[in-house]
Amino acid sequence: MRHRDPKQEQQWVLPDFENTRIAFSSKSDIELLETERMFRLMNSPWLVSMGSFIAKIAMKANFPLVERTIKNTIFKQFCGGVTLADCQETIDLLAQYNALSILDYGAESKSDEQELDRTEKELINAIEFAASNTSVPVVSSKLTSLVANEILEKKQLGEVLTKGEEEQYNRFVDRITRACTRAAELKVGVFIDAEESWMQDVMDDIVTDLMRTFNRERITVYNTYQMYRHDKLSQLRSDHLKAKEEGYILGAKLVRGAYMNKERARAEAYGYASPIQKNKESTDRDYNAAILYCIDHFEEIALCNASHNVDSVKLMAREILDRGLPRDHQHLNFCQLQGMSDHLTYNLAQGGFNTAKYVVYGPIKEVAAYLIRRAEENTAVTGEMSRELQLIRREIKRRKL
Ligand SMILES: Cc1cc2nc3c(=O)[nH]c(=O)nc-3n(C[C@H](O)[C@H](O)[C@H](O)COP(=O)(O)OP(=O)(O)OC[C@H]3O[C@@H](n4cnc5c(N)ncnc54)[C@H](O)[C@@H]3O)c2cc1C
Repeated sequence: MRHRDPKQEQQWVLPDFENTRIAFSSKSDIELLETERMFRLMNSPWLVSMGSFIAKIAMKANFPLVERTIKNTIFKQFCGGVTLADCQETIDLLAQYNALSILDYGAESKSDEQELDRTEKELINAIEFAASNTSVPVVSSKLTSLVANEILEKKQLGEVLTKGEEEQYNRFVDRITRACTRAAELKVGVFIDAEESWMQDVMDDIVTDLMRTFNRERITVYNTYQMYRHDKLSQLRSDHLKAKEEGYILGAKLVRGAYMNKERARAEAYGYASPIQKNKESTDRDYNAAILYCIDHFEEIALCNASHNVDSVKLMAREILDRGLPRDHQHLNFCQLQGMSDHLTYNLAQGGFNTAKYVVYGPIKEVAAYLIRRAEENTAVTGEMSRELQLIRREIKRRKL
């Protein structure tokens, strides 16, 4: 624990997350108005579900007009570009405001072996690109972009794999191990995203093996814990104890979880107990308890609080300040998605906390599923304006536009 320096006292202040001037300082008036239009459209649930449906069909049929429309609207809002080089502009802009970038090639759910090899290549390219860029400390990866879902599902069910499947599985483990080896050599971190529960146990085992290998002297590999699952807080604690006993650092990226409806629907369809918490309050309670647990053990756990929830962000910032911990400690990190929650990212960054944006990139076809999730997240489910839209409108009013 560090003691506060009274001379620096004025810096130990919780950021004002209501400050929309700082939140949108990187946006010109025109950009702000464009963003407002974008979020206004997404606010409408029927428009989003119709748009997602049309986009899925059009992308399959290869309609260039639809692709161009997506590229100039929702893609522009939530993605850094098609290639790594395209992302440089976003990375530089974030760096100007003291925020870091986490590169995320948008691929998910692949099965063709050549495609899986290509995704591995993309991941290693991203790691090398990050190493040459002081404001990209970490890259992110989805394991379902490196192996077919069926293999993971079968393995999780404890079914015997055929010889061919066993080979596919081994090739997958080799792919992610090569990527993490390169990352460790170049001192770049790797976030492994959490996905659906029916494959997650197998992924957890692999990520634990990777952490055991690569997280000895410094943190390289992070697993992701979805706190909308009622078993994850206890898993976080037991993973920490295991890591401590075996002498490696636990990497813990905390999220609430992105597949709630899918999880509940599948559990109901197959007649098993849903892994999801009974309500939002339970998810929030476990999420915040997990933050406190990681901060209690911050020397042994490298934490990334990956959330747009202002209460969870405030809780962590306040704990760092109250306990007098270094705001720029490598194990105390915040992260939001590009195009969302600028009020958190920019105010945290200005306050000297380690803050990053996930910068997702890739061809439109690769990032389509990600974009649909972002659109759905920003619709007004209860009829209220989405959180983003409220903030943008407040800033438009402040600028008198
Ligand atoms: C940087 C970053 C990385 C991410 N990586 C991943 C990842 O690897 N895997 C992944 O699954 N997601 C990931 N997400 C998405 C994340 O899981 C959430 O879907 C999203 O961030 C919204 O949650 P929130 O913490 O921002 O807060 P909020 O908006 O306060 O919470 C919304 C979330 O609460 C939960 N929730 C809502 N209603 C209920 C209910 N009735 N019962 C129980 N729980 C409920 C759901 O998880 C929902 O998404 C990531 C998000 C960020 C910002």
